[in-house]
Amino acid sequence: MLEHLGSLPASLNSPSSGDSASSAARHKEHAFWMQQMDITPFDFSYLGNLLQQAYTDWQAQHDSDLDKSSRIYSVWNTEGICMGFANEFENGSIPRETVMACLETGKAQSVRGSDQHGEFHFMAEPLFSRINKDMFAVFTALVYEPNRYETSEVIVRSEAAHYRTCFYRRFEYIFMADLLKAHEQTAREEHRRSILFQIVQRMHDKMDVDAILDEVFDSIDYLYPTTSMNLYMSQDRNSSNPRIRPLLFHEQGEDICVRSFKDGQTIIIRSDQGESRIVEVGLPLKGKQGIYGVFHIEMNEELMEDPDLQLITMMADTAGTAFENAKLHEQSNMLIQELRLINDLTQRLNKSLQLKEIYQISELELKDIFQAESCCILQLNDSTNRFEVMSSNVGEMRHKSFPLDYGITGMLYQTEEPLILSNYAQCTKVSSVFMEVTSSMSLMASPIRVNGQMKGTILLGHPKEHFFSYDNYRLLQMLSIHVGLALSNATLHAEVRRLANLDMLTGLYVRHYLDSVIHERQTHEFCGSLIVVDIDQFKQVNDTFGHQTGDQVLKQVSDIVTTSVRSEDVCARWGGEELAIYMPQLGIRQAVEYAEVIRRRVAEETRPPVTVSSGIAEWNWMDDKVSVESLFYRADMALYEAKHGGRNRIVLEEQEVTR
Ligand code: GH3
Ligand code: MG
Ligand code: MG
Repeated sequence: MLEHLGSLPASLNSPSSGDSASSAARHKEHAFWMQQMDITPFDFSYLGNLLQQAYTDWQAQHDSDLDKSSRIYSVWNTEGICMGFANEFENGSIPRETVMACLETGKAQSVRGSDQHGEFHFMAEPLFSRINKDMFAVFTALVYEPNRYETSEVIVRSEAAHYRTCFYRRFEYIFMADLLKAHEQTAREEHRRSILFQIVQRMHDKMDVDAILDEVFDSIDYLYPTTSMNLYMSQDRNSSNPRIRPLLFHEQGEDICVRSFKDGQTIIIRSDQGESRIVEVGLPLKGKQGIYGVFHIEMNEELMEDPDLQLITMMADTAGTAFENAKLHEQSNMLIQELRLINDLTQRLNKSLQLKEIYQISELELKDIFQAESCCILQLNDSTNRFEVMSSNVGEMRHKSFPLDYGITGMLYQTEEPLILSNYAQCTKVSSVFMEVTSSMSLMASPIRVNGQMKGTILLGHPKEHFFSYDNYRLLQMLSIHVGLALSNATLHAEVRRLANLDMLTGLYVRHYLDSVIHERQTHEFCGSLIVVDIDQFKQVNDTFGHQTGDQVLKQVSDIVTTSVRSEDVCARWGGEELAIYMPQLGIRQAVEYAEVIRRRVAEETRPPVTVSSGIAEWNWMDDKVSVESLFYRADMALYEAKHGGRNRIVLEEQEVTR
């Protein structure tokens, strides 16, 4: 009979669609449609119960006591089996052949006879289906009313009709019950689908990994309030949700979550727990690129029908895809953020070519990027073989230096590897002034490499335990590469600048450097002297001994000059074989002493021997016009005088002093 359910009209299949205006029309339509429903010969062999139930219904309504004693009603199915019978009498007297005749011919039969109860009249009325008029049963009556045959016949016929009505009412009732059940299921299905749809939409709207996972928990809580669900993640996500836990692989025995994670499949285990049957489900949280964890669900078996399982599976699938998308989004955001930070830092670092400034910028920026409380940057001093603090926000650390094997820097120097500590108190391997004076618990440290060699370290500390994340640690390593690059740039630049200011032959500064030094000094010092030294008859040296020897002599004179003056004096090759010495904060009277030392030493020490003449000029802040040009001019004039006066001598501006 249930085959009919397969052909439900569309209007019943969509119970949720509807406004009140059309609902009355639909009601009518349904009533009409009910009338159209009927049994067919395919149903006949399943009619047993229905015929019996209809007989009971009919009997309950048929309440005449008189009838009960004088009429015995029965119902027979199409196979000639009695399905409903008033059993006060044996049915031995019923002429079965009359029932069969009725079944065969499809026509009402009537016979007379007698038994131990007396004379009887037996009537068999065929019952036809309402549309195709197929005979589906026979209604019979054994009547002991010898004098009322005709009346009895009318009564029996109407009872048959009544029974048929009872039968159809039962049929419609059962049909309705089935229909309602199907309808209920459809409605539930619809509800699940709409919830799934909403969940999918909400999940895909979210780009935040934790929000997606929360959504799954909220949805399951809403749909299955008595269910217990946890999520076991293969990578620690540092979640604040207590139901998100790490997936442990070393658990004893057959763990459903580990199995589900390894196989990437849903695993269902049913078991008895006291009175009730429990279903345990392991559902992988997976995307296209991998499996991230496993949902573990435990619920009462009664609450977990197949469609529920499908729904939960679909939800987990959606969550997996949404999770993966959000994770990729999160990762690319993080990369962009990191690139931005690297870019900002390098831009700031590249603005400066001063080592000191680079250390300061690095300290400030790194402290800011990682929200560290303390930062210290150390540099290896090759000549002292100690690490020196170059920049730190911690007062106690400034200007300190440490041996190569001390503390965290010492550890990094040994391993050449970066380091992350989440709890310094539990660390027995190293003791550190930095950690102790700053009361830090968390630490990140990275070596600074310049041209592949470890030249320093960056230390970042925070008083909280577990303060720095693994991503922080990775980023610091990248940033320290850029700090190293900036330092090597600055070092190279300083070297290039130094070389550009030096004369190759003599090792003295070049003239324009001397110019800039004097110019700079004149802005904030009180006085200074300039000695110009020129080798006498140098052309002859060249002519006699050749240019190469001439060069050597020039070098000898240069060395005598640099070793005869103070360290703060600046010696330069002024041009050709003329040299100049600027002596800051020194008056002409003292400068001449140095010039004299030079004159004497040159005459004594050079080979082949040469002599030099010098002119000296001075400036002081009270001069009307302080300038580099005037100083040079006056010294040059004095030199001219010295040459003119016979060479190998020193002339102070406007006066000759010594020979
Ligand atoms: P004085 O200064 O005593 O008047 O005579 P001088 O022969 O030194 O004359 P002057 O200063 O005018 O000439 C400088 C000579 O120095 C000319 C040039 O051949 C020579 N000279 C200049 N620079 C170099 C150099 O770098 N190497 C060598 N070997 N000779 C140089
Ligand atoms: Mg000369
Ligand atoms: Mg000269």
